[in-house]
Amino acid sequence: MTARVLIVDDVPANLKLLDAKLTAEYFDVFKASSGQEALDAAKEQLPDIILLDVMMPGMDGFEVCRRLKAMPETEHIPVVMVTALDQPKDRVQGLEAGADDFLTKPLNDLALFARVRSLVRLKMVTDELRMREATGQRIGALSATGDSFLMSEPGRIAVIDDRPTSLKRITETLASEHNVTVAESQEELIQLASTGDFDLHIISLTLQEYDGLRLCSQLRSLEATRQTPILAIVEEGDTPRLVRALDMGVNDYLVRPVERNELVARARSQLRRKRYQDYLRDKFQQGLELAITDGLTGLYNRRYMEGHLATLVDEAANTGKSVALLIFDIDYFKLVNDTYGHGAGDMVLKEFAKRISSNVRNVDLTCRLGGEEFVVVMPDTDVDYAVSVAERLRQNVAMKPFTLDEEGRTIDVTVSIGIAVTQGPADDAGKLLERADQGLYRAKRDGRNRVVAEAA
Ligand code: GH3
Ligand code: MG
Ligand code: MG
Repeated sequence: MTARVLIVDDVPANLKLLDAKLTAEYFDVFKASSGQEALDAAKEQLPDIILLDVMMPGMDGFEVCRRLKAMPETEHIPVVMVTALDQPKDRVQGLEAGADDFLTKPLNDLALFARVRSLVRLKMVTDELRMREATGQRIGALSATGDSFLMSEPGRIAVIDDRPTSLKRITETLASEHNVTVAESQEELIQLASTGDFDLHIISLTLQEYDGLRLCSQLRSLEATRQTPILAIVEEGDTPRLVRALDMGVNDYLVRPVERNELVARARSQLRRKRYQDYLRDKFQQGLELAITDGLTGLYNRRYMEGHLATLVDEAANTGKSVALLIFDIDYFKLVNDTYGHGAGDMVLKEFAKRISSNVRNVDLTCRLGGEEFVVVMPDTDVDYAVSVAERLRQNVAMKPFTLDEEGRTIDVTVSIGIAVTQGPADDAGKLLERADQGLYRAKRDGRNRVVAEAA
């Protein structure tokens, strides 16, 4: 993985050394030697990660970090503070300024590279979601909202650590802000995690009876837990294990002995990130549904059907199978509205949609073209089978009266159906729809309440 790294340090020799190390690892390196230069370079280059010195004349690293995190263009770029300061309170100050990590000089190269790779990989997930959101906003399917809701509720945190004092410290520290659940064994943690919907897993990598790294990799591979952040607890100086954990997708780590304020700050930043990603995912899903479904019936809309039909027809051309298309138009539907009102008309449309979609196969796509016209697309279907399905659906509509309102008034409804089936590789979606429509027209002309398939 190549990543674009911005390094910031006021001492030229430090810049040069870090540049050489990172370049040798095939990272693309940009340099800045003051806080202001760093802000300008970040805006202009939009790097994948920023390694930021803390002590600089003028604007110090904490202030640079706060400003980066306050600008919409740069707030999602991970920042690692690199410093000779090694007091817990310095680390906490960095994390509170919005830094994603705080590494102490002299840097352990392996740990540094692993951290850079891990933060860049984690950023890619958020970037992808943010791009989808931007697209959603552009096409009008999503609206913009603030992010003040992100920390409004306590987090649900699952912890496994077999050292009693450490565990006590973790649970006591977090309990004031969050709901903490302790797992006694690896199995219990997996079980909790896959059913409990947690926001964060805190895992000791030095468990006596279990392999903490294996546990992390299991959590990363299970569908239910792969999106949930992991905060690992490592022994001071155990770089090999830390590097493996980061490469495996662990989001963040704490070094023993766990410092309370640092734990609070790191847990908070993981929760914030998780909620932001959940929010983007949900919002995208909702927007997608709005964009491709019909509000009244919940069926797919015309836009989706046309896209999907084109895909199926292309595939059919390649495989030699045929796709059938049924087009439905309710008979004398205007009369329903005119006699019983628009609300009753809507009831009929909803029930009609339900009867059609629940009486075709799962692979068949039912959608509302608009008004009182519907389509069923049937992959891998020949004309005889399509006719038998259409005939069954026609009878289902005609035999059972439709409910009009809460009082239980009913009305008889009939439908006319046209059918077309793809004919060889030269056929396309537009022609198929047109031929089905001709069948429908003939069905109407010949007296309605009937099925007409194109001549083979
Ligand atoms: P035909 O047998 O020839 O199909 O006659 P029809 O009355 O069904 O055809 P026409 O196209 O003249 O009328 C369709 C009616 O469907 C007119 C319109 O008011 C009604 N309609 C379209 N969309 C909706 C809707 O969402 N809700 C309701 N209640 N009515 C709708
Ligand atoms: Mg019509
Ligand atoms: Mg009609």
